[in-house]
Amino acid sequence: MTNQIPILSLTLEELKETLKPMGESTYRAEQIYEWLYRHGVSSFSEMTNLSESLRAKLQDHFFLTPPVCEVFESSDGTRKYRLKLQDEKSVEMVWLPEESRNTLCISSQVGCALACAFCVTGKVGFLRNLNVDEIVQQLRSVIFDDQRPVSNVVFMGMGEPLLNMEAVLKAIRVFIEPKGLAMGKRKITVSTAGIVPKIRPFLERAGVKMAISLTGASNASRDHWMPINQKYNLEDLASELRRIPIKKGRVFFFEVVLMKDENDSEEEARRLAKVLKGIPARVNLIPYNENGEFPHLKRPPMERVQAFQDILMKNKIRTLIRKNRGEDVMAACGQLAAGHLEK
Ligand code: SAH
Repeated sequence: MTNQIPILSLTLEELKETLKPMGESTYRAEQIYEWLYRHGVSSFSEMTNLSESLRAKLQDHFFLTPPVCEVFESSDGTRKYRLKLQDEKSVEMVWLPEESRNTLCISSQVGCALACAFCVTGKVGFLRNLNVDEIVQQLRSVIFDDQRPVSNVVFMGMGEPLLNMEAVLKAIRVFIEPKGLAMGKRKITVSTAGIVPKIRPFLERAGVKMAISLTGASNASRDHWMPINQKYNLEDLASELRRIPIKKGRVFFFEVVLMKDENDSEEEARRLAKVLKGIPARVNLIPYNENGEFPHLKRPPMERVQAFQDILMKNKIRTLIRKNRGEDVMAACGQLAAGHLEK
């Protein structure tokens, strides 16, 4: 059948609505959700507490999105996965084990339209948006097919989540469904390059953590590194963030990629502190992950990254230096191309 629905694209409510005209009770939808997200089945025939005729109906109406096809294991324990899509395109996700948590970094688009001047995904260009089921399957197949625990999900893989907002919102609804994966909203972070008019509506609807990629601390510098700044500049971004009401104790996370002799000076750090004034902020400094696409860009020496951190801390901005992980398998931030740059 050609018009089968990908069952992973449905929230529990939608699954109930879809089953109703087939004469099935809402309770069946809950059972199916448990099979999909508690037991992680890979076929309808495994749903053994459903009648044979219902299983046949499911088989007719729906399909299950194929799981991950390739795993790349880094020497530091990081795992990169490549999910092959039905149109032969691919996306990647990265599993990052830590003592206190296991984070899965997932993708929202195939490639990316924003063309940041340091990011390999930007070099791929925009190929297409991911569908809800393709986003959901990233998480499901790591948990069930590769049997890795996942406590946190970050939309920091390929693509710009706020340019595929409806699909990302729906995937989040699937992740937090109590009858399914039952993730906490505060265990999910969405990272944006700064699609300013979408930040507030997104936050109001999703209630998850928000990270913003900054990298440049002046318009001149940010226009260069992140061309989206030519549309939504730093002042627009900062004043919008100051206006958004957020609960006491909560913060916006900022990602700043530091590149040697490009944007790693102490002066730049002071500029950044000024930009962030009045915004409840936590900064993650990401020492540049080198790659063959931008051979002129280098990682700064650690002392330089620390000096940058010190200045932000002196300005009372909590700042962490992100560990560079998974570089040996091109799984680190900004290194995901999913094979689209090969050959
Ligand atoms: N489009 C969204 C989601 C991607 S997050 C966003 O930009 O926020 C990916 C993060 O990796 C971004 O913060 C980006 O700035 C960072 N990044 C990109 N290329 C990098 C590289 N080569 N080294 C380190 N970080 C990089």
